[in-house]
Amino acid sequence: MSLAEETKRIVAQFEYSDEDLNKGVQEFIRQMREGLEKDGTSLSQIPTYVTAVPNGTEKGTYLAVDLGGTNFRVCSVQLNGDSTFNLTYSKVAIPKDIMTAKTARELFAFLAKQIELFLQDHHEDHYERHIRRRNTLSSPEGYKDEHVFRLGFTFSFPVHQLGINSGTLIRWTKGFDIPDAVGKDVCALLQEEIDKLHLPVKVAALVNDTVGTLMARSYASPGKSKAVLGAIFGTGTNGAYVEKLSNIKKEVPGDFDKSTGLMIINTEWGSFDNQLNVLPNTPWDAQLDKESVNPGFQIFEKRVSGMFLGEILRLVIVDLLNKTDVPLFMDENSSHNDWKSTTTIAPLSGLYKQWGLDSAIMSAAAADTTPELALLRQDLETHLHVYTPSLEDAQLFKEISAAIGRRAARLSAVAIGAILLQTGSLADESSDEPVDIGVDGSLVEHYPYFRDMIYEGLRAIEGIGPKGAERVRIGIAKDGSGVGAALIALVAAGMENGEGSITL
Ligand code: ADP
Ligand code: MG
Repeated sequence: MSLAEETKRIVAQFEYSDEDLNKGVQEFIRQMREGLEKDGTSLSQIPTYVTAVPNGTEKGTYLAVDLGGTNFRVCSVQLNGDSTFNLTYSKVAIPKDIMTAKTARELFAFLAKQIELFLQDHHEDHYERHIRRRNTLSSPEGYKDEHVFRLGFTFSFPVHQLGINSGTLIRWTKGFDIPDAVGKDVCALLQEEIDKLHLPVKVAALVNDTVGTLMARSYASPGKSKAVLGAIFGTGTNGAYVEKLSNIKKEVPGDFDKSTGLMIINTEWGSFDNQLNVLPNTPWDAQLDKESVNPGFQIFEKRVSGMFLGEILRLVIVDLLNKTDVPLFMDENSSHNDWKSTTTIAPLSGLYKQWGLDSAIMSAAAADTTPELALLRQDLETHLHVYTPSLEDAQLFKEISAAIGRRAARLSAVAIGAILLQTGSLADESSDEPVDIGVDGSLVEHYPYFRDMIYEGLRAIEGIGPKGAERVRIGIAKDGSGVGAALIALVAAGMENGEGSITL
């Protein structure tokens, strides 16, 4: 079979029609509602205890820290009250021995120490005034609460959240291994070490990156509108949205402010449709899942996010390389190659290794519109060690890659569209108020036309249509773990003072 025919045959398998899309939306809404009713469903629908979203008029200085996989980031955010902010930050790599420390204390003492250093470096005045005050005051508390920085703690590991500033660690991931910390409240652990250093800091909120993204977009979006959804399309994919409390039927233990009638829900939508009721399942999707560390889980994510798109493409390519009648990356002789050579794949090529094809090259493929695909062919050489691919090879690579990327964007539209419908954000058809959505992650940031393809999907959804889609404003909201976490600390501070509706 010719490469062009092969391409067509494969691209067809990644097509995700308008009809599929609408079926997907209906099922997504069904699984969302199921997750609001009980535990143990495929969409976890985790209550976050964040009950208000900002509108850009918030003011004050807040701290935020982010314990991700490899770095610890400390920052302070000054909210100017006009949708702008100033952010100062420092970043340190987490030493290996701290990641596998014997006790949780060692890790959290290290984190508290970094906060102390940051305050000394960037908030010297405040820090020294605080020390002076503490040394001169005789009251048992030592200092007044209003002089204390509120801190939002972005903690990117699975936690069982118990309140706005409390949650227990379920398990470590990403190379961390400190068994002593499992089951303990990570906010309390951090607060304890902060208190030992007598820092003027209160851990006010525990933050998930999707919620941070939602808050950051809500604050920074033009005008006073508030965002309804924050979504990540990076290594993984997930979203958090604003739900009515009355729709949350399962028990939400602990205290929280009920006055707004709202709560942000972390959907954990990477697990949408693990049971494959509606999601597409090509042979390559099935193979990827089977060979993954968690077969049967994160099924939606495995069709949508950066970590997986490259692997799907790789599996297709490997399949074609194994077919002797398909002349991919293979020339009978140099006359068959438009650059008059023959193609070679180096044995060390990422094509031969699981996860060896980074989805970044898919962005490069989509971006290359030169007639000879010279840029993509260069990338194939540099990144995949495929030397002198022909134009036909590059065309096949580009078209199949585009089909996988397009399906991912349309699946993203399923999640976004379902949430727009569930929240009724577009229900008032006479309104032309924008509906804001914040997004973050390399895929949505760098893959050409990813957002445009999401919009195309939204226009095809019944109940949204072209008119609804036009009101939707999807904007990049970077720094969910900085400004977003600071905003959650602000909302939390409002709750402490009994003014939970501070931002409404
Ligand atoms: P994280 O999710 O860890 O916060 P990112 O948002 O940067 O980090 O996402 C990293 C993922 O995005 C990786 O899986 C990587 O393969 C993919 N990626 C990085 N650059 C691009 C790009 N230009 N186009 C598409 N995917 C990319
Ligand atoms: Mg990220």
